Amino acid sequence: GDEEETGEDYLFKIVVIGDSAVGKSNLLSRFARNEFDHNTKATIGVEFQTVCVEINGKEVKAQIWDTAGQERFRAVTSAYYRGAVGALLVYDISRKTTFESVSRWLDELNTHCDTAVARLLVGNKCDLENIREVSVDEAKSVAESEGLFFIETSALDSTNVKTAFEIAIKEIYNNIS
Ligand code: GDP
Ligand code: MG
Repeated sequence: GDEEETGEDYLFKIVVIGDSAVGKSNLLSRFARNEFDHNTKATIGVEFQTVCVEINGKEVKAQIWDTAGQERFRAVTSAYYRGAVGALLVYDISRKTTFESVSRWLDELNTHCDTAVARLLVGNKCDLENIREVSVDEAKSVAESEGLFFIETSALDSTNVKTAFEIAIKEIYNNIS
């Protein structure tokens, strides 16, 4: 295609990880198609969506992978992580246990990927402020000690969803250029 001819395009593989039902699939569908689904889809098998963004006048294709529910069976495979240059580690701000799992997901990421992978800690469902169980401060302090970027999002009302993916993509871009 054109990209090979100009040599100016980039393809970044980004993985979205985190406990079941934190909103990974909805973050991706909100970003890629501006869609939100109130039900959890029990799709089996790895899926990804490609979203094109422009950074510094260069076209970047972000190939964003979704676990499609495998995390429920503890079966996110090494193929899922292979070649990833960015990762969104997602938890649900209304469920503390999903935040406590972040260290386990980080370990898994470190097992499968290079340390140069751009990592963003994402506290999703920030629309659920009234039942919040994870404070911004505690999330920030974990992000700081683990060297992660941090942002809160809502796939439901769209807060920061685009920004979250853009932070990851820009960081990957900075890492390689
Ligand atoms: P996944 O298992 O991590 O892929 O999570 P899903 O994207 O399937 O979402 C799990 C459930 O949380 C679904 O019922 C979604 O509608 C809901 N959900 C996802 N994102 C949000 C959000 O930002 N706010 C709220 N209130 N619910 C959300
Ligand atoms: Mg899912």
